Amino acid sequence: MRICDDRYRRERARMELALRFLRHEARTRTIRTWTGLSDDRIRKLYRSYMSHARRYLPRHRGKSPHQVAYFTRSLRLQQETAVLASVLSLLGVVPAAVCAEASGALPGLTRGELLCQAFEAYRLLLPAAQISFEHTVFLATALARGDQLRFGRCSDCGGLLVTERFPLRARRCHHCASPMQSRC
Ligand SMILES: [Zn+2]
Repeated sequence: MRICDDRYRRERARMELALRFLRHEARTRTIRTWTGLSDDRIRKLYRSYMSHARRYLPRHRGKSPHQVAYFTRSLRLQQETAVLASVLSLLGVVPAAVCAEASGALPGLTRGELLCQAFEAYRLLLPAAQISFEHTVFLATALARGDQLRFGRCSDCGGLLVTERFPLRARRCHHCASPMQSRC
């Protein structure tokens, strides 16, 4: 009886997490990696959700994001990335120690729920944010792995930044790099 209860609870947690990922427009492959559900069950879940959903949820196909340069492409994205990375770190989505096997070790139900909480908190903080849920998954994995991106500090104010592993020059945060600031 006990085993059945546990199994039922776990199954339910998987479905709830998959739904939360679907609402954030995650790709099937990402949902499968984080929940362990089969593609077939994810498709069925999507169809049954859409049959009474209030808004259309697009299904994204193809590869998940994999370019770390995306996070440093503009000052706005750098600033958004710093906010998102702070939330990911505060909620414990990204482990304190760098782990080379992060893409294999990071996904799981508990961390998946924290990942959703972090993304939802980030969207509350920055309602016009550009960074998608799929990019959030990618950022969390890249920061945990630490091979391409890592947490850094602004060379002027010490504020948190996300930098490449071996930055070519000292990095300054959005605030310190803005022309208004340099006139002060
Ligand atoms: Zn700064």
